[in-house]
Amino acid sequence: MAVNYIYPEYEVVRNYDRCIVCRVCERQCANGVHEYLPDLNKMTCDDSKCVNCHRCVALCPTRALKIVKSDNTYKENANWSNKTINEIYRQAESGGVLLSSMGNPENYPIYFDKILLNASQVTNPSIDPLREPMETKVFLGAKPKAIKRDAEGKLVDNLTPHLTLSMPVMFSAMSYGSISYNAHESLARAAKELGIFYNTGEGGLHEDFYKYGDHTIVQVASGRFGVHPDYLSSGVAIEIKMGQGAKPGIGGHLPGTKIVGDISKTRMIPEGTDAISPAPHHDIYSIEDLRQLVYSLKEATDYKKPVIVKIAAVHNVAAIASGIARSGADIIAIDGFRGGTGAAPTRIRDNVGIPIELALASVDKRLRDEGIRDNVSLVVGGSIRSSADVVKAVALGADCVYIGTAALIALGCHLCRSCHSGKCNWGIATQVPSLVKRLNPEIGYKRLVNLMNAWKHEIMEMMGGMGINSIEALKGNRLMLRGVGLNEKELEILGIKHAGE
Ligand code: SF4
Ligand code: SF4
Ligand code: SF4
Repeated sequence: MAVNYIYPEYEVVRNYDRCIVCRVCERQCANGVHEYLPDLNKMTCDDSKCVNCHRCVALCPTRALKIVKSDNTYKENANWSNKTINEIYRQAESGGVLLSSMGNPENYPIYFDKILLNASQVTNPSIDPLREPMETKVFLGAKPKAIKRDAEGKLVDNLTPHLTLSMPVMFSAMSYGSISYNAHESLARAAKELGIFYNTGEGGLHEDFYKYGDHTIVQVASGRFGVHPDYLSSGVAIEIKMGQGAKPGIGGHLPGTKIVGDISKTRMIPEGTDAISPAPHHDIYSIEDLRQLVYSLKEATDYKKPVIVKIAAVHNVAAIASGIARSGADIIAIDGFRGGTGAAPTRIRDNVGIPIELALASVDKRLRDEGIRDNVSLVVGGSIRSSADVVKAVALGADCVYIGTAALIALGCHLCRSCHSGKCNWGIATQVPSLVKRLNPEIGYKRLVNLMNAWKHEIMEMMGGMGINSIEALKGNRLMLRGVGLNEKELEILGIKHAGE
């Protein structure tokens, strides 16, 4: 009984007048969609395997291909969508949890798109970033409440070393294992060239990348994969991952099929073993426990590295951040509910957490109200899509942002959201050697550098337009923001006025 037949979501449309039967599409599709029929000297395809990654479309030499959404539909129903019905069929068949990857694609409000920036007119003249100095440098870490001098008048500086960035953007945590060697190399090289940082994620650090240590943040997650003294000392900062925006409250799982070769060596676990990060750190059940880990890591690295604590944006994020700011951490990273992932249960990804804009505004306000805002820097991520999002995040109170998905798109990701299959046709979220080599790190790192340089220029233009000449002066400057189409409560939480006020 074909109860479970699910019509393909996408259709591969081939223009046979243009197709020269070169079979490029067949070679390029790791999902085995395209097939050559020798008897007919013609191509055919199995649409049901297509994930809409656009690899074949981009490489077809005659532009003979396009992927379209299927118009096959169940009877119209505003409550029971095609997607919901198909998901129930799948679960009724498998009895399993639905898996997804990348960020939450559902239609929740995007607050960044409902916030507009100010610009100078007549008074408070704007600044031309091409002709006048403009400071985009950012320092991350605890700031002194007051300047202290010793008896001889010299500055007393006993703070943990800061991270210095050329612009308020870093590459967020993506583990070696969830993404490929070539993707990691692209990120590391770009971070070095740009004077910013990339993050190892929870998979350890491949020995080839120790040379990028000055631009590396090393992560310690609940699974402690690949964590050893040399690893902790190799980066410029250590990030404790307590949570992730795409899957707050649950752990991680990299299937054993991906734990091969260097990945198994880097993670320090046997080949073929599933890498399961537990939901909690089994030694952390309170802020006091967190404080112990923060200071253990500082002790292990001679108090030379700032410690970041990363959490997912959840309902009581402001209270949690307040505790973290008192735990000895130097930086708090908050990951919004649209943050990306290599794999997460679909229901968690799409229904848990809160938007980063609201989380950021409420954390910044709480820390200011409690007089501890300078104890920590705030880094936010979870769908920062453009330089405008960066500027709005800084004006809402962030010191800096993390980007993940945008960086992967720069590397060629087409957001097909099938990273969990391990068959990324663009060589990013895969460990299959023939696919990995499709991403040339030489090209990849240049594309990341281009993207960041373009954003930096746009950030300077927006700041100049507001008459602001440094990121520090923009930070938390909510007067530069106005809301459109937001209700009183939303405006109150964001701490901004409505447009026209
Ligand atoms: S890549 Fe384009 S031209 Fe070549 S076989 Fe496929 S559809 Fe035809
Ligand atoms: S999965 Fe990607 S490469 Fe394969 S047919 Fe679909 S769009 Fe083309
Ligand atoms: S990284 Fe690859 S598999 Fe993942 S969404 Fe992007 S293109 Fe698809």
